[in-house]
Amino acid sequence: MKRLITLLFLVNIIFYLQAKQKEPNYTIIISLDGFRWDYPEMYSTPNLDKIAAHGVKAIMLPSFPASTFPNHYTLATGLVPDHHGIINNTFWDVKAKKQYSMGDSATRNNSDYYLGEPIWVTAQKQGVKTGNVYWVGSDIAIKGTYPTYHKFFSEKPRLSFEQRIDTVISWLQKPKVECPQLIMLYFEEPDGVGHHFGPKSKEIKNEVQYLDSLIGVLLTKIKSLPIAQKVNLIITSDHGMTEISKNRVVDMNLYLNPEWCEMIDGTTPTSIFTKPECRDSVYNALKKVAHIFVWKKEEIPTELNYGSSDRIGDIVVAPELGWQFTDKGRNLKGAHGYFPQSKDMQVVFRACGPDFRKGYRSNSFSNVDIYPLLSHLLGIIPENTDGQFQRVEKMLVP
Ligand SMILES: [Zn+2]
Repeated sequence: MKRLITLLFLVNIIFYLQAKQKEPNYTIIISLDGFRWDYPEMYSTPNLDKIAAHGVKAIMLPSFPASTFPNHYTLATGLVPDHHGIINNTFWDVKAKKQYSMGDSATRNNSDYYLGEPIWVTAQKQGVKTGNVYWVGSDIAIKGTYPTYHKFFSEKPRLSFEQRIDTVISWLQKPKVECPQLIMLYFEEPDGVGHHFGPKSKEIKNEVQYLDSLIGVLLTKIKSLPIAQKVNLIITSDHGMTEISKNRVVDMNLYLNPEWCEMIDGTTPTSIFTKPECRDSVYNALKKVAHIFVWKKEEIPTELNYGSSDRIGDIVVAPELGWQFTDKGRNLKGAHGYFPQSKDMQVVFRACGPDFRKGYRSNSFSNVDIYPLLSHLLGIIPENTDGQFQRVEKMLVP
C-alpha cells in the first residue's frame, strides 16, 4: 500500500513537471451574474455561439444555495459554500452575534469570513500574477493577499462594463514579466434585470443581447493583441433565474412564533436559530406547510452539501422552485437560491482558446470544478478542494 502511494505521488509529480515544461497560456474568466444556461437558446447571442463553435459548450451547476456571494466564492475556491463559509448572501454569525451581509461593507470586507483559498492566492504563492475586476473576495486581503492587479468594488465611480473590458486589455498589454496569467472579470448583469423583469421578458432579452455584444467587443480586442493566440476565454455565471409571483409566497408569520427563535436569517434558504427548548415546536409548525422543505440541520439531503457550517441555523427552510418563504413578499419577477438540480438555476459555460477543444459539447458539471480547471491551465499545484479536475479534463486538448 505504502509503495502504491509513493508510486502515485511520483506519477503526480511527473504529470506536474510535464505540464510545467509547457509555458502556460493566459486565461480570462468572466462571470455574467445570473446568466441562465438557456438564455443563448431563448435570445440571440452570436458571440457566445461563436465561442461554442470554436470551443466548448456546457451547462454548469451552481452549488447550494444558488446565490451570488456563495457561488462566486465557490468558483474562486473550489469549495462548496458549507466549506468556504459564505453560506448565503447574508447569514447570522453566531460567534460575534452579528449579521454578515454582502450589502454591509464592514462585514463584507472582513477577511475572517472567507475560508479556503481563492485561486489568485494559490497562483501568487507560486509566483503567478493575476488580475481581477470585482470578483467576490478579490478586493479583500484573504490570507493577507490581494490579486496582483485589482479594483475595489466599493470605490466610486464604479467602472462601466466597457471600462472593465479596457482594463483587462490593458493588463494583457503589459510586458511579459508583468502580465497577469489569470484574469477574472465580473459583470453584475443580467441578474438585476432578471430580478426586476423576469427571465422571459423583453428587458432580459435586450440585456442578454447587450452583454453578448460586449463579449464581441472583448473578442475583437483580444484578437488585436500580439499574444492573441495564447489567450483562453471562459464565460460563465454564478446561478440562473426563475420566475416568481406574489401568489407563490409562504408567509412565515403565519407559522412561526417569534418567541421560539433566537434569529431568523436569509432567504432561499432561511436559517433559523431556535431556542433549544423550542426546536421541535419550530420544526413541527413548519413541516406540514405546503411548498417548502424544512429540515433539521443534520437531516439536510447530502446532495445539497449543506449543514456543517456553524453559520447555518439548526433548522433550514428551502422553498420549492418559484416559491418564497418570507415575512414580506418581494415585488420582483425573478429569483434564485433554489436547488442546483433545478434546471432554471443552472448556468451558461462557454470556453475557447489554445487549451480548449474545438466544437466540444461537454457533460454538465459542478462549479466546484472550476478551481482545479484554472489551476491546471495555470500550471500550478491546487489546494485540496471539493472539485475534481478529472470531471472537466475532457474539454481540454490532450
Ligand atoms: Zn448572482
